[in-house]
Amino acid sequence: MKWHYRCATCGTTYDIVPGRYLCERCAQAQQADRPLEGILEAQWEGEAQPRGIPLPVEPEWFPAIPVGNTPLWAPQRLRREFAAPGLWLKDDSCNPSGSFKDRASYLVAAFAKKHRLREVVLASTGNAASSMAAVGAAADLAVKVFLPAAAPIAKRIQVLQYGAELVSVDGNYDQAFDLSLGYSKKSGSLSRNTAYNPLTIEGKKTVAFEIVEDLLAAGAGAPGHVFVPAGDGVILAGVYKGFEDLLKLGRIGKIPVIWACQATGSSAIARAWSSAASGSDAFCAPKPSKTVADSIAVDVPRNGVHALGKLRRHGGQAVLVSDPEILAAQRTLAAGSGLFAEPSSSAAFAGWLKVRDRLPQEEDCVVLITGTGLKDIASAARGLGLST
Ligand SMILES: *Cc1c(COP(=O)(O)O)cnc(C)c1O
Repeated sequence: MKWHYRCATCGTTYDIVPGRYLCERCAQAQQADRPLEGILEAQWEGEAQPRGIPLPVEPEWFPAIPVGNTPLWAPQRLRREFAAPGLWLKDDSCNPSGSFKDRASYLVAAFAKKHRLREVVLASTGNAASSMAAVGAAADLAVKVFLPAAAPIAKRIQVLQYGAELVSVDGNYDQAFDLSLGYSKKSGSLSRNTAYNPLTIEGKKTVAFEIVEDLLAAGAGAPGHVFVPAGDGVILAGVYKGFEDLLKLGRIGKIPVIWACQATGSSAIARAWSSAASGSDAFCAPKPSKTVADSIAVDVPRNGVHALGKLRRHGGQAVLVSDPEILAAQRTLAAGSGLFAEPSSSAAFAGWLKVRDRLPQEEDCVVLITGTGLKDIASAARGLGLST
């Protein structure tokens, strides 16, 4: 099996080597305050193994920390109460740092080990930082994170407990992103910035493989619908990449309908999806984000163009949910299933609640729970009418 990067826009291929992040040609079209241009995808040629997940870094480089293989389970009480026999929860809050981000950090850490790189640097709204810090600790990598000062306290404490260096940014995520890129360019450290490092997308695809394998083991087929919370759109693109690979391998017959679930206060991808424009033009009117779901609050979705392309190509959907709907869904999910999810993940469940009447009852619907509710107690308290 031979691996390379391929530009999702122009198809130019590149070796998968340190320092390669974007397509040289397409990145020149980058405009300020727009999603990244020239996003690269990892692709392979030749025979894939008949089982398992094809990845561009060999298994021996992955650190010893149990990322992925999270539970996919049937919430019987919610199924009954909502007459939804096909409802499944994929609980990625069970990852070591408590979020889905560990899937990306795990592949990035393996890549760093393989190439003997010592430091990983990134900007984050919180979860990518705590995740890279955790996986970096297991892999014995130095980790430096640029985090907006307003990030939830639990995520900041995680970063420090895992022994990473925290640079508090007096600004938003978009500013932290630019600062971290400046630092990685200057220092030569490996950037784990989401979307910018193509391995963040590739690492996130593993969830699709697990969903399909677990549903088969449970006697069901491939899922009909998958509900994904979307901020930068990297989880969205990663989930799609996984299903594209599964289709290429002949392990599924078609790609499920993916629902991009966004907060009304941070809705760039949904707005682009319903606009008539394409590419970067669909993102020409950025709005400052404001939502209780901090992990999906972005002004400019870094992977917007790439995620929008996949959403359109594969007949995906977008659904918007308000902050009150997110907080209500958080309680409905916790009290009805025993799974306490952070607001961003609750947005995916809120999205399902909103459109479930339109879905055929017999189809399997997977809601991706991307982070634990314990990461943001203040918002959860707000949902209960309490102050902290
Ligand atoms: C990062 C994150 C998301 C959104 O992922 P994007 O790739 O930015 O769209 C959703 N939920 C949680 C818990 C996250 O940490």
